Amino acid sequence: TPKQPSNLSLLLQSLLDEAQQLPDAGKVADYIPALAAVAPDQIGLAVATIDGQVHSAGDADTAFSIQSVSKIFGLVQAMNRKGDSLWQRVHMEPSGQPFNSIVQLEWEHGIPRNPFINAGALVVADMLVSHYSASKAAALTFIRRLALTEQIWVDNAVYHSEKEHGNRNAALAYLMKSFGNIEAEVPDVLDHYFYQCSVEMSCKQLALSLLFLANRGIHPVNEQSICSRRDAHRVNAILSTSGMYDQSGEFAFTVGLPAKSGVGGGIAAIVPNYGVIAAWSPKLNNFGNSCRGMHMITQLAGQLGLSVY
Ligand code: GLN
Repeated sequence: TPKQPSNLSLLLQSLLDEAQQLPDAGKVADYIPALAAVAPDQIGLAVATIDGQVHSAGDADTAFSIQSVSKIFGLVQAMNRKGDSLWQRVHMEPSGQPFNSIVQLEWEHGIPRNPFINAGALVVADMLVSHYSASKAAALTFIRRLALTEQIWVDNAVYHSEKEHGNRNAALAYLMKSFGNIEAEVPDVLDHYFYQCSVEMSCKQLALSLLFLANRGIHPVNEQSICSRRDAHRVNAILSTSGMYDQSGEFAFTVGLPAKSGVGGGIAAIVPNYGVIAAWSPKLNNFGNSCRGMHMITQLAGQLGLSVY
């Protein structure tokens, strides 16, 4: 059981102050102008616990581009829709490669290594596009339901610039289509994927939205069943091995929590039976993970003894 600090909000504030002082905090994603323009020194931290309380510090109400954190939402939607047949089209192994890598796809016959690298998320997006008449609206509705608010939108500047600079993702999707692992038309799959990447959420919203993964698939605030207990365990397992790209091993070693990062600078970490930590700060390390976000989550997990191992 995690240690209960006498004042969690104060602890979060002190970890945030410490992270703000880090001398070498990386650099903002610059593959699209809309992300390169984000003010680099923003920083937020929130913890939602399964009793529904939210503690926070810094810019925890500021909405940011969730980017690859959205891969969790897409996967849960697709698991609910497709059942176990999903795992014939995407594996559950860590890739050890950068998130947008294409190299393994050819020798693995178009089957991506896991759903949390771009190739895997594109296969998941294909399943959603093929199964919903309005997959983008369904994605946004699902996220709003999880975050318990209608106040979540897509950043249109990010969405359009993702599309303009989407050649690598297009290459991944076309290669998989050549192997028969993309059913819909590639532009439709990319459109869905870029849309979900462009959803904006705050740390507080993100932490609340993932509480079901800390609570066996049940959203603890309204008792709604979001996925089966078995699938919540499975999502957490893959997050543990693959959620932090090719830094997942180090993250398991030093932090020991299922977690997902995005190039917008967000990181969500699941603490089973306790809650969710959401951290955000836009400057990234070489793996595409938020430097200050990693620092805050590492410190918090260490001080409260949160490692699942
Ligand atoms: N939109 C980004 C991409 O597809 C998301 C990647 C990420 O957050 N790692 O390249």
